[in-house]
Amino acid sequence: MAEIQCEEPNPYQVALKQLEIVAEKMKLEPDIHEVLKLPKRVLEVAIPVRMDNGRIKVFRGFRVQHHDALGPYKGGIRYHPKVCLDEVRALAMWMSMKCAVVGLPYGGGKGGIICNPKEMSVGEIERLTRRFTSEIMEIIGPYRDVPAPDVYTSGREMAWIFDTYSKAKGYAVPEVVTGKPIEVGGSLGRKEATSRGTVIAVREAAKRTKLDLTKATCAIQGYGNVGYHAALLQRELGSKIVSVSDSRGGIYNSDGLDPKAVKQFKSKNRTVVGYPGSEKITNAELLELDIDVLIPAALEGQILADNAPRIKAKIISEGANGPTTPEADDILYEKGTLLVPDILANAGGVTVSYFEWLQNLTRESWTEETVNNKLEERMVTAFKTVYDVSQREKVHMRTAAYMIAVERIGNAIKLRGLFP
Ligand code: NAD
Repeated sequence: MAEIQCEEPNPYQVALKQLEIVAEKMKLEPDIHEVLKLPKRVLEVAIPVRMDNGRIKVFRGFRVQHHDALGPYKGGIRYHPKVCLDEVRALAMWMSMKCAVVGLPYGGGKGGIICNPKEMSVGEIERLTRRFTSEIMEIIGPYRDVPAPDVYTSGREMAWIFDTYSKAKGYAVPEVVTGKPIEVGGSLGRKEATSRGTVIAVREAAKRTKLDLTKATCAIQGYGNVGYHAALLQRELGSKIVSVSDSRGGIYNSDGLDPKAVKQFKSKNRTVVGYPGSEKITNAELLELDIDVLIPAALEGQILADNAPRIKAKIISEGANGPTTPEADDILYEKGTLLVPDILANAGGVTVSYFEWLQNLTRESWTEETVNNKLEERMVTAFKTVYDVSQREKVHMRTAAYMIAVERIGNAIKLRGLFP
């Protein structure tokens, strides 16, 4: 099968460039650099699914395992018509870096299926999910590779993965996947965890830049799991959410939007566009609004050399993975924007996934307060570590975060040595 080309900027090329910048800065041993460039395993599977019309449709799916020096591979599964292998490769590498930045005993992995769930019935999505699980069964497992939700997947799909895997083993294995519904072993606080981390990052950044968040305006690109909960939490800090968007476009109201009401409107109308009292804007316009805080929470490749000079936000906290290119990073840094990179800003999700995995392994369940307190502690510590390195080394936060991650992974690779 021919490889499907990703749209530009190619996410894997972006990830390789980020790694190259850091390798140069920290004078990384060329051997370690070589090892980190390529994922350890790439699995492509064909997924035949009986559609509701009785015909079989064959979907293409991927699971990429980047590196496991620090522990089992960990990373979400994305359902999207534009999934491409280089995107999954990049997302897997970012997962390795992310887990290392927050000090989790995990490596990085990611999965994706080329499909459009918006045009599929629940039954078709379930059969797709179960067959995909069975096709990747050999390479996942609680101590091997632990999937989680990503774009257009949620607790519902994770419950099906858990069930399919458990049926094959003959006993319940909830720890094979995280992001499950609470009723089947999910963790309290997991649904909001990514956004909670993203907003903690905004709060920590605001402390350093002396931005008063109670008077701040905020725009959020993408209004799914991450975007919606980020809106709620950012509003709890007193900020005004003036703009949000989804795949069909954005909305703006200078007096502020009510996140819950917008969510209700989206549930009914399948988009935020048309929300009463708001002005319609494009996703590109949202990024360039005159606001204090910008939270990208959609897809990669949004902030580029082209639009970075026009971005006015003082703080950017990347809820999404890979929204900014290396060229744009430099432009924003020069302008004095404090950008908290994805591998730190959205690490709350995998952190609470780790808590869920621990709870499943020990058959315990923690209170939401315990989960949130532990998340807070890890995020604040990781933020401080990254910020301090960025100040000391005079580099932006992404390079600083990568330096910490690459050092941790590199040390583990060296200590474990090369087999045979
Ligand atoms: P989701 O499926 O819940 O929501 C995605 C949102 O993005 C939807 O509102 C969708 O309409 C919107 N969208 C899709 N294409 C768009 C486009 N071209 N322009 C603008 N908006 C668009 O997904 P999610 O879980 O909220 O993930 C969002 C981002 O956060 C992704 O980059 C994902 O990798 C990242 N992330 C998610 C988690 C998690 O725990 N779910 C963890 C870390 C990072």
